[in-house]
Amino acid sequence: SLIPKKIREMEYRIEADPSKGMKVPVTIYADEKLLQKMLTDRTIQQAINVSTIPGVLKHVVVLPDGHEGYGFPVGGVAAMDAENGMISPGGVGYDINCGVRLIKTNLMEKDVRPRLKELVTELFTSIPSGVGSKGAVRLTSSDLDEVLVKGVQWAVDHGYGSKDDADVCEENGQIKNADPGKISPTARKRGAPQLGSLGSGNHFLEVQRVDQIHDKEAAKKMGIFNEGQITVLIHCGSRGFGHQVCSDYLRVSEQALSKYKINLVDRELACVPNSSEEGESYRKAMFAALNYAWSNRQMITHWTRKAFERVFKQTESDLDMKLIYDVAHNIAKVEKHKIDGEMRSVVVHRKGATRAFPQGRDEVPKKYRDIGQPVFIPGSMGTGSWILLGKPGSMDLSFGSTAHGAGRMMSRSAARRNFTESQVQKSLGDKGIFIKALTREGVVEETPEAYKDVDAVANVSHELGIATKVAKLVPIGVIKG
Ligand code: 5GP
Ligand code: MN
Ligand code: MN
Repeated sequence: SLIPKKIREMEYRIEADPSKGMKVPVTIYADEKLLQKMLTDRTIQQAINVSTIPGVLKHVVVLPDGHEGYGFPVGGVAAMDAENGMISPGGVGYDINCGVRLIKTNLMEKDVRPRLKELVTELFTSIPSGVGSKGAVRLTSSDLDEVLVKGVQWAVDHGYGSKDDADVCEENGQIKNADPGKISPTARKRGAPQLGSLGSGNHFLEVQRVDQIHDKEAAKKMGIFNEGQITVLIHCGSRGFGHQVCSDYLRVSEQALSKYKINLVDRELACVPNSSEEGESYRKAMFAALNYAWSNRQMITHWTRKAFERVFKQTESDLDMKLIYDVAHNIAKVEKHKIDGEMRSVVVHRKGATRAFPQGRDEVPKKYRDIGQPVFIPGSMGTGSWILLGKPGSMDLSFGSTAHGAGRMMSRSAARRNFTESQVQKSLGDKGIFIKALTREGVVEETPEAYKDVDAVANVSHELGIATKVAKLVPIGVIKG
């Protein structure tokens, strides 16, 4: 049935039902309220659909921020056998390597408050944003090829940051085996002018204050020492480039379904064998989009530092504006996971899900290897966001993954019906939050009421030992595309 069975606090399951084609169970990590919310849309049905894909292993995971998406739910994780399983563009999502990164400063709220408007305005002017926005760089075709292969390293080579930045990105911001040769002319055309831009809607740059510290040791390791300290959170992805890669390979996958005799319960799940020619091509193209997004976030980081330098008349090193970490939350890659007691290579699809590896895993950068990987869960522009720390529990429970946000609970159109721009502006203003957005709709559609309770989402992860609380950050200034 569609009603999940409670296994223990915060864990629910739908057992595999072979008569429905389910090959594995669906596991949902949520509290009662978050679960009830999921049951109001197709989240669970979509997870069940994913559990029918050939080669899917162990279970399909729905995280506490789960909601319905294209084919696969957002806030979902599915692992497929690397040899005999599938790879699916819809299991990664349209905004390939959408992700978040957090930058620390040594400024305190009292230093920033008097210049908040000036700072937010400076950030807003120096960081391109908006639906079709163009970045502030001109890329030739061969520049673009380099971006697609080198990712953050390309940005570092061109003066947008340092090696220290690359060291604290997932995959060092440069995943291997990306191939620009697998990218369509349309994707190139959309991508070339947009590198170094935030995009629109849910993408943002936020100036925050550390509100609570829960894990002093881990916070210290990340350079967070005090409540009131200022941080900057950047959320964006691969712009039109990744979107086009996803569209292109959805079409490729749909067309290859009969060739590989794949029967799907929902065409939106279109997938190809990971080891097939089409699978290889998608992987190489998707990896190119990963690198594009990492490079994009790196350039925005650089302009953020420059804006702070201008406003506070100090250098970025005086301001100690180090990158804490960068997570990808729309991604698929081959990793080793223990399944039925055996280590296996699996394609882990994280769609609206954040890797949350514990201490000791090779993939965790040296700086954090003895504590675990930092995880960021943004909430909304009016509430808060969390820094968590990947824990051993994640490996067994969720293929080393946790939530990626609070998750939307009100559609954009419903938000526009229920709120006005001045209402939203006023309630943010009452909380001391200054926002600059390109459009009125952008403000209204992103009203904090449109999102679920981020504290509840972080709690589920914390209580289950998937990723535990380090600090809570609250917004004081926001820019939105
Ligand atoms: P997605 O990647 O699915 O678009 O969204 C990531 C998450 O970011 C959303 O689920 C939401 O909780 C969060 N979010 C959206 N807008 C903002 C914002 O302006 N500030 C913060 N801190 N979080 C946001
Ligand atoms: Mn995102
Ligand atoms: Mn995105």
